[in-house]
Amino acid sequence: MKTQNKCVNITSIFHCNYAIFLSFAFLFSALFPALAGCGKTASPRTETVFALDTVVQITYYRDADKNAVMEALSACKAYEKLFSRTDPESALYRLNHANGEETEVPEELYKFLLEVQKYAVRYPDYFDITLGAVSDLYDFKSENPEVPSDAAVSEALSHTGIEKVSFLGDRKIRLLDKGLSLDLGAVAKGYIGERMKEMLENAGVRSALLNLGGNVLAIGKRPDGRAFSIGIQDPEHEDRMIKTVDVSDACVVTSGNYERFFIKDGVRYHHLIDPETGRPAENGLESVTVVTEDSFLADLLSTLLFVAGKDRAEALLQDFPPLHVYFIENGELKEAVN
Ligand code: AMP
Ligand code: MG
Repeated sequence: MKTQNKCVNITSIFHCNYAIFLSFAFLFSALFPALAGCGKTASPRTETVFALDTVVQITYYRDADKNAVMEALSACKAYEKLFSRTDPESALYRLNHANGEETEVPEELYKFLLEVQKYAVRYPDYFDITLGAVSDLYDFKSENPEVPSDAAVSEALSHTGIEKVSFLGDRKIRLLDKGLSLDLGAVAKGYIGERMKEMLENAGVRSALLNLGGNVLAIGKRPDGRAFSIGIQDPEHEDRMIKTVDVSDACVVTSGNYERFFIKDGVRYHHLIDPETGRPAENGLESVTVVTEDSFLADLLSTLLFVAGKDRAEALLQDFPPLHVYFIENGELKEAVN
């Protein structure tokens, strides 16, 4: 594997959430045995950036694909200017800090929000992109994280609700509650991965693997004609896989309670929030992995189905196009298809 010409931001990588970095490293090491056996004519190369608060990598096989790969990674970085909650120059930041004023946003963000809103309206008990005020109460990067008080959680919850996001047409949006903040963490990486995949395919790339912090998208098959083998992490052992799935032209996206979390007084507080309680969803699930064609949908659903819990999630599957879902519940792997 070539290591030159990488655009790795080492400093940022080591500032990123340790658990995510580990799970990423684990996932990727799980891929390499598969990639290594790809034949003499097509050894894999990997390019990396730190973007969207995580490590983003593309593995590809032909020198001719390198420009397209670098462009896709630049595009990924550029998407921060649309979706970041923390970059004051991003379109989402401006909308979140508009103090209830009508705000014009880029067309791509407007269309994206309109699409995501449909799911938030349909599944408000499980999927809510207006949870920003609640997410802000949990600091997973702090050395001394605090468990938010009931009062803080109910105050934050009073500033949520998709019905308070008003789409006015002509790319204009008004957040009807000044304390409301959109949080697109559940869906942005899936959407961006899909756009990067399109860019690569349009540039003629026929075989590649994209990894956006554990959201894995396969373009085609490996050059030797076999499917890509993707590991699903064992939530209880960060250096072990519980299962591998073989995919081509499909993606594998996981939401897990081990990705961003802290433990206080023996209780795990993680980043997948029950919109009703404002607390991490507790239903016995440790992770949900969705395998399907479209990574936007897979990302959205991995979060939604995790929060719903396994039984309700299985009942919801019929609403969606073909999916293969892996639930890990109390240490046990269970599969479902629709
Ligand atoms: P993912 O890792 O794709 O499951 O996304 C998790 C992120 O989605 C969290 O870090 C929050 O930013 C956001 N989030 C948490 N709970 C929810 C929820 N119930 N609905 C929508 N977004 C959520
Ligand atoms: Mg998600």
